[in-house]
Amino acid sequence: MARYTSAACRKCRREGTKLFLKGEKCYSQKCALSKRPTPPGQHGQSRQRKMSEYGLQLREKQKARRAYGLLETQFKRTYNRATKMKGVTGENLLQLLERRLDNVVYRAGFATSRAHARQLVNHGHFLVDGEKVDIPSFTIRENQVVTVRKRSHNLEHFKIVREGSSRIVPKWLSVDADKLSINVIALPERDDVDFSLQENMIVEFYSR
Ligand code: SF4
Repeated sequence: MARYTSAACRKCRREGTKLFLKGEKCYSQKCALSKRPTPPGQHGQSRQRKMSEYGLQLREKQKARRAYGLLETQFKRTYNRATKMKGVTGENLLQLLERRLDNVVYRAGFATSRAHARQLVNHGHFLVDGEKVDIPSFTIRENQVVTVRKRSHNLEHFKIVREGSSRIVPKWLSVDADKLSINVIALPERDDVDFSLQENMIVEFYSR
């Protein structure tokens, strides 16, 4: 079997878009989707047929769920929360997903992927406003400061982070790599999502 058919890359090929699940590989020419932009499986290429409205909505929901690495129940819970907020439900949903602590750690360049960020948060390496938070789904608020706890500074991974990364940090975060600190200077906006998504189709999927 070809080496680029890893489980994570198959998800990107299935959704037809980069979901950034494999760390630095996603930003390189080794990205499986660039090499083979067809659905996975022996008959992936021939299986490309017109999808029903329901199928398209399902795929958008799966794309978002897989990109942020959530189980269906977690994703649905986030959606239900978004429906109770003021404003447009689809945009609220994306904002809640972006404000997850694991996503903030990833988008700031402190982890190679969202899955890696989740592991780092689970292992208790981060403080939010000086308090230890080891819950990846923790919702970050504006003006909060995420830092790496002092005793983790000497870990090899964080030494590399301090050297800086070429990752583009979204405008709602201000990163001080040397101090291993992330300042949430604003709430994320629709355009801050780093992959293509039609959130209105997710809303339609759950409104059926
Ligand atoms: Fe694989 Fe990353 Fe490319 Fe997706 S974006 S296909 S996970 S290398």
